[in-house]
Amino acid sequence: MNPYFDEDLVRLGEQVRRFATSRIAPGFQERERTRVLDRGLMQEMGGMGFIAPELPEQFGGLATSCLAAGVIHEEVARADLSMSYVNLLGSLNGQILSHHGQPEVVRPWLLRLTRGEALLAIALTEPRGGSDAANLRLQVERIGDEYVVNGEKTSISAADQADAAVVFGRTGAPDSGARGITALLVPLDLPGVTRSRFDCHGQRAIGRGSIFFENVRVPVSHRLGEENAGFVQVMQGFDFSRALIGLQVLAVARISLDETWTHVAERRAFGKPLSAFQGVSHPLAGLDTKVEAARLLCLQALWLKDRGAPHSAEAAMCKWWAPKLAYDVVHQCLLMFGHGGYDRGPMEQRLRDVLGFQIGDGTAQIMKTIIARTRAGRAAVPA
Ligand SMILES: Cc1cc2nc3c(=O)[nH]c(=O)nc-3n(C[C@H](O)[C@H](O)[C@H](O)COP(=O)(O)OP(=O)(O)OC[C@H]3O[C@@H](n4cnc5c(N)ncnc54)[C@H](O)[C@@H]3O)c2cc1C
Repeated sequence: MNPYFDEDLVRLGEQVRRFATSRIAPGFQERERTRVLDRGLMQEMGGMGFIAPELPEQFGGLATSCLAAGVIHEEVARADLSMSYVNLLGSLNGQILSHHGQPEVVRPWLLRLTRGEALLAIALTEPRGGSDAANLRLQVERIGDEYVVNGEKTSISAADQADAAVVFGRTGAPDSGARGITALLVPLDLPGVTRSRFDCHGQRAIGRGSIFFENVRVPVSHRLGEENAGFVQVMQGFDFSRALIGLQVLAVARISLDETWTHVAERRAFGKPLSAFQGVSHPLAGLDTKVEAARLLCLQALWLKDRGAPHSAEAAMCKWWAPKLAYDVVHQCLLMFGHGGYDRGPMEQRLRDVLGFQIGDGTAQIMKTIIARTRAGRAAVPA
């Protein structure tokens, strides 16, 4: 129990944990080997209302709170972080499409997304860099009632598995910065789209890759938000995904701690359980404390979002702290399993999985700049 959850949210968490334990966890290592997300499982998740449940009912959601989306997200991530990208990308893209798209264009996509029939990627990063996100080069030129897209997006999660992507490109002059960017919903089966897959360190079932655009013609109706306002309007959604990412990696830390506490209580050395040695139990106790605190911060960010209150600083705190903490936790847990922890298995897979989020969706340096700007003012914290 905690102050953010009522009985309904507790019950929801228990329901998702039962599903995730029986249906998602068993394939955790196999999906990393085949590097394919299980579409059948995605549809089961959709059928149970587990994907973007916060969306309005007209778009296939259940109009739940964002906290409810967080509860589902952490239970799926506890079983398989890669699989919980379905929730992360569903909620992030769901929010962007439902707020900024033309209803008749985005509704069919949102219905497929919430049913688990379509996976949407988010394509911002370019080969020249990701941190300086407003400095995009992807060319988007308006010709009649179409946009023609040319260039490359890179390091995109699910690049080769997604059915469509929210793509940010430049419609303004080359030096127009954040005020010359437009967001488009691009179905990835359009002529001129090709994709690649990287050999990732972790998160291998979802994977990352490049998306190449060669004279790809996208109807103007697929624009999200106003022309040249994509960065300013559409990027607001990232506060939501940052809080969700915090819960996602902390769920992996929590299951690692749960398993490790059991292990150190059972395994013996020098005639005692490992946990009898403070060198074993105190580092775990310290990390367990921080995981509890960081999780409450993530729930606080979602609670603020549900009330329409500002939460950019809190979301950025979740995004830099939780992935660093989760990595330290899983690292410590792995060591507590001795040589067994170093074998290919769930713990080393989790270590590789959580590391990605120290980079993906913005690094700690960028998150700390966001926090500093929120506290000290943008003028006092230039880029
Ligand atoms: C697992 C994973 C998933 C991803 N998924 C997606 C996705 O779905 N869609 C997408 O668009 N992108 C995605 N990315 C890309 C990711 O968002 C970028 O990698 C990230 O924003 C950093 O950009 P970069 O890699 O180009 O590093 P750079 O921008 O080149 O930065 C390199 C280093 O310099 C530091 N740095 C840069 N500028 C500053 C500064 N002003 N002050 C201090 N330090 C600075 C950075 O913190 C970083 O440590 C993903 C990446 C990973 C690893």
